[in-house]
Amino acid sequence: MTRIGAIEAGGTKFVCGYGDETGRIIDRVSFPTERPEATMANVLAYFEDKQVEAIGVGSFGPIDINPESPTYGYVTTTPKPGWNGFDFLGAMKKKFDVPYGWDTDVNAAAFGEAKWGAAQGLDSCVYYTIGTGVGVGVYVEGKPVHGLVHPEGGHIITRRHPEDTFEGFCPYHSDCLEGVAAGPALEKRWKVKGSELSVDHPAWEMEAYYIGQAVTNTILLLSPKKIILGGGVMHQLQLFPLIREEVRKQLNGYVSAEEIASGLDSYIVPPGLGDNAGLSGSLALGLAALER
Ligand code: ADP
Ligand code: ZN
Repeated sequence: MTRIGAIEAGGTKFVCGYGDETGRIIDRVSFPTERPEATMANVLAYFEDKQVEAIGVGSFGPIDINPESPTYGYVTTTPKPGWNGFDFLGAMKKKFDVPYGWDTDVNAAAFGEAKWGAAQGLDSCVYYTIGTGVGVGVYVEGKPVHGLVHPEGGHIITRRHPEDTFEGFCPYHSDCLEGVAAGPALEKRWKVKGSELSVDHPAWEMEAYYIGQAVTNTILLLSPKKIILGGGVMHQLQLFPLIREEVRKQLNGYVSAEEIASGLDSYIVPPGLGDNAGLSGSLALGLAALER
């Protein structure tokens, strides 16, 4: 058995674990994200006795994932106290001299879903997390997409729902996708936590209107073979049929693939790896680094 370490570095919590080359997770722990010194002390202590052969990190961003860059492995422009410009991979490498995989948390999740989850066997998929923020991971032709920096699909521009008077909460754009559709938007708009809204509340139709736009644009722009919707808000499973309906309406028959014409139920899906998508994806990144 090969022991691979995995870190799902989230803005609210960190999950550390290890598993094997089949994607099986053997152990995991979780702790809140504090300032980097305190958080990294927890991470380093966890891996102290685990004897992992490689470590994969899927991190909240923005992060530097360009291997040619002098700040490769750093967290870049986050407002999170202490993390702006923090050398994440450097702090790991000082302690454990193993191969590292390093990507955004959502690219990791897309990669993990393609390897072991809902997009298994496919060479492309897009992974959305609708949680405290909105993030989008893109996996195309067998690789996570990096591009200039990395995709930031959570901040795409949305068309407003005609009945939505909430101004949006994104500090940069107010009413981008994240600003109107992430968990905090639900809570600020309806004055109650998303998890406490009844399943037939009008909130979900509005939510599906926004997520449906994002999914529609994703289909038009990237033509992925699967779209996976995860994160806390997507625990509201009644959203899935509403989103599929919205996508059907917005595409209006334009894209002729069978998967879209008659297969939306198996095309727009929850993560096959459930809430482990991020950690399993990080494990997959670690495994890929070892194989390189
Ligand atoms: P994070 O994005 O911080 O990694 P989550 O994916 O769990 O974590 O997302 C947390 C957000 O999702 C919060 O805004 C929370 O209110 C919302 N949320 C969590 N569970 C539910 C639920 N069952 N229904 C609606 N919203 C939820
Ligand atoms: Zn934004």
